[in-house]
Amino acid sequence: MNQNKSNELYKISSKYFPGGVNSPVRAFKSVEGTPLFIKKGKGAFITDVDGNKFIDFCASWGPLILGHNHPKIRKAVVKASKNGLSFGAPTLQENELADLIIKNNKYLEKIRFVSSGTEAVMSAVRLARGYTKREKIIKFEGCYHGHVDHLLVKAGSGLVTFGSSSSAGIPDAFVQETLVLPLNNRKAVEEAFKQYKNEIACIIIEPIPANNGLLLQDKEYLQFLKETANANGSLIIFDEVISGFRVGFEGAAGYYEIQPDIVTYGKIMGGGMPVGCYGSSAKIMSSIAPDGDVYQAGTLSGNPVAMSAGKAALTVLAEEDFYQDQEKRTQVFVNKLKSHISKKGYNLYISTIGSIFWMVYGNNGKIQAPDQINDEAGKYFKAIFKKLLNRGVYLGPSGYEVGFISSAHSTKILNKAADQIIAALDEVDVEIGLK
Ligand SMILES: *Cc1c(COP(=O)(O)O)cnc(C)c1O
Repeated sequence: MNQNKSNELYKISSKYFPGGVNSPVRAFKSVEGTPLFIKKGKGAFITDVDGNKFIDFCASWGPLILGHNHPKIRKAVVKASKNGLSFGAPTLQENELADLIIKNNKYLEKIRFVSSGTEAVMSAVRLARGYTKREKIIKFEGCYHGHVDHLLVKAGSGLVTFGSSSSAGIPDAFVQETLVLPLNNRKAVEEAFKQYKNEIACIIIEPIPANNGLLLQDKEYLQFLKETANANGSLIIFDEVISGFRVGFEGAAGYYEIQPDIVTYGKIMGGGMPVGCYGSSAKIMSSIAPDGDVYQAGTLSGNPVAMSAGKAALTVLAEEDFYQDQEKRTQVFVNKLKSHISKKGYNLYISTIGSIFWMVYGNNGKIQAPDQINDEAGKYFKAIFKKLLNRGVYLGPSGYEVGFISSAHSTKILNKAADQIIAALDEVDVEIGLK
């Protein structure tokens, strides 16, 4: 694969940005490569500046559930932009997107739009603290919640990849307000509430943890978290920045039929534009300024162009059978891989839900917490990742990242991708052994 132009651009970007990138995992560090500079995307495909074309499973890290450059979203963005890009005053578009979200989601009464997932989480935690008048929070090892200070405590995603459990620049005093517990462990939760009685504002969890591999939890465990939090006067926040609009229009809350106290969304919600939101009951949301005393604001919040992109995307997602169809194609694809893996006796495990999949070295059966991931998983991911690039398949450049399937990934495209993945696995088996 020729990547001369990408390499040239990377030399220049390295002068301008730390690591040459504007978000760390893009730097290809964990796969020891140089990042590809992407020129354009269409449907299930992306093309880099050297003209290499890939079937894309990164999907901008999740937002592009309708594939790249969907005509309905593009049209909506162009149309909205003709009236101007931002006003800092209310617009019709905010009402329209909120209408679509709230009318199709029984778990929410009121929302507030922000511009990223991190911002949504940061605001949701502040709301929980302001509402409960408590300061401590519980998070889980293996869940990522954006780069919020209080939550960069043994977080997953890019951080795990770099082998660091935290970030410099975060005061100890902040970290001491965050209890980090193991996933899928009820005792730890009970113990935390016993030890810090009346001090815990909220539990925050990715109900479908998908930033440190795909660590699917049991419904009963999530229900237990909800009940334990509420029994102790605490709230539960479902961070659905990935799972929202991915496993169903109502996200994981709808999938598991559990009512969270506060929900955060991002990624898919903006149709590819920078949008996030947090929401709750009208009662809890009345704590937010200007109704209440929890301050939260944004110059570009509810941006009309971004709202229009979100509305165009979510309108398609609200159509009947959208999610069933997504899941069906994903299952056929995953089953094809699984049957090859089992035929060859490869030591690989695939975890999947909705249109998300994650393939990992180490055949441990169900993986529900980060410490169950094989220590050698990264080495095998790197080998598979490189073979796949040469075969025209683009995965997120880290073994801890999941793959996303869009509505543009037709059965035919998925079949072709599966053939390439199978061929890549067989090559890796010959070179370093996969059994
Ligand atoms: C991506 C993600 C975030 C952060 O969102 P950004 O838009 O990157 O700030 C927070 N929580 C979860 C669960 C995410 O997947």
